[in-house]
Formats: sequence, C-alpha cells, structure tokens
Amino acid sequence: MILLVAFSIITTLNIIFIIVLLILYLVILVYGSYSICSGFYVKTYCSAKIAKREIAITFDDGPNGEVTGNVLNILKDSDIKACFFLIGENAANNEDIIERMNNEGHLIGNHSFTHSNYYDLYSSGRMMDDLMATENAIFKITGRKTRLFRPPFGVTNPAIKKSTAKLNYLVIGWSIRSFDGTISDPDKIFKRVCRRLKPGAIILFHDNNPKILSILSRFIEYVTKNEYKIVRLDTLLNITSYK
Ligand SMILES: [Zn+2]
Repeated sequence: MILLVAFSIITTLNIIFIIVLLILYLVILVYGSYSICSGFYVKTYCSAKIAKREIAITFDDGPNGEVTGNVLNILKDSDIKACFFLIGENAANNEDIIERMNNEGHLIGNHSFTHSNYYDLYSSGRMMDDLMATENAIFKITGRKTRLFRPPFGVTNPAIKKSTAKLNYLVIGWSIRSFDGTISDPDKIFKRVCRRLKPGAIILFHDNNPKILSILSRFIEYVTKNEYKIVRLDTLLNITSYK
C-alpha cells in the first residue's frame, strides 16, 4: 500500500516536472523569436562593443512620400548618414526618394516586401522570394544589392536563419527602440532614447510618421551637445553593406 502511494506521488511529480520543463522550453522559444538581440536563432548585430562615443541611427518602414524626404533634409543639414530599412512594396512611386538616399550616402537595407503580420510563419523558400523581391526593387533604383536585413517586428526563427544565410544577408537589430510608432508624446520618445544612449548604440526610428521630424532634430542637437558622433551603421559595426 505504502509503495503504491509512493509510486503514485513520484509519477505525479514526474508529470508536473515534465509539464514545467515543456512550459520553460516554450517560453525560451517565444523569447528567442521575439527578442531579436537574444541571438537564439540567428546571429544578429544589435550594437557595437566600443568605448568611443559613436552611435548609428536607422529608420524602418519607409520610404514614405510625406515624411522620408523631410528626414533626408534634416540629415543633410547636419551632415549625418543613416541606414533606411525599406519595405519593398513602398519602393513603387517613391523611386526618387530611394535614389536620393543612395546619392546622399545613406545605407539602404531590406525590411521585407510587405511587412506581413504573418512573416514569421513563412517557409524559408517564401522568405527567400520575399527578400529577393525587395532586393531587386532596391537594385533597380540604386544598382546596389543590399546585404542588410532587419526582420519585420524584430522576429527571428529558423526560417529566417536559413533564408538570410543562403542569400548572404546580415541580420541587423537595434539596442535602443524608440517606440515612435506606439508612444504618442514626442517628448517622451525623445527622453526615452536619450536616457538609453551609450557608445555603440543602434537606434531604431521609423520614417513613416511625421512625429519623427521634431524628435530627430532635437535628438541630433542632444547628441552633439553630449559629444556623441552619429556614424553610418557599416562604420559602427565594421561590416560590408552591399553584395
Ligand atoms: Zn517594421
């Protein structure tokens, strides 16, 4: 009888232990997918390990016919080079903006063709087609084949690892997320980014919302006052950006 009770307790404990392990495993998988800097699935560049007060700025989700041109004006006035991660389908009708980015010395990266909410469910084959569609759209305008890829929503998984490796892409994350798409108060966004500033940082902004214009001007002023230098992403990371 005692043996039977002991056996049943041990079996119950074993089942609980297995369930806990399974839950932990799932938590790690989800964390690995949604935390781009975890490096869980793919080697990702999120910052540079340097002591020099140098940082890089990046813009996602453009080009935007109303906003990106003004972002380029601000950058030009301050002689700052940035990296723009473009959505491939936005290239149509915005060719002049992309040409200008390239001519003014900014880097251009791939941010998928449609920024689909289901991107992380794509097979590696579909991801390769998607990466190539954006790469070709950029190539047609600039004559350059980008090597830089920032996954939509910062999600990484085995299909992204496989498709980016096959197409010789570097996966680029960030160390400071501005949340300029979700926080409504520009002042809060500005302070959030400035508080987190440190040498080697990669900052994520979006150039599809006019809010960025006042934040960017203030940010450049703050950075300069605090003796930081904004350098181009490839300089910060010491990488080659084009194939
Ligand atoms: Zn995006």
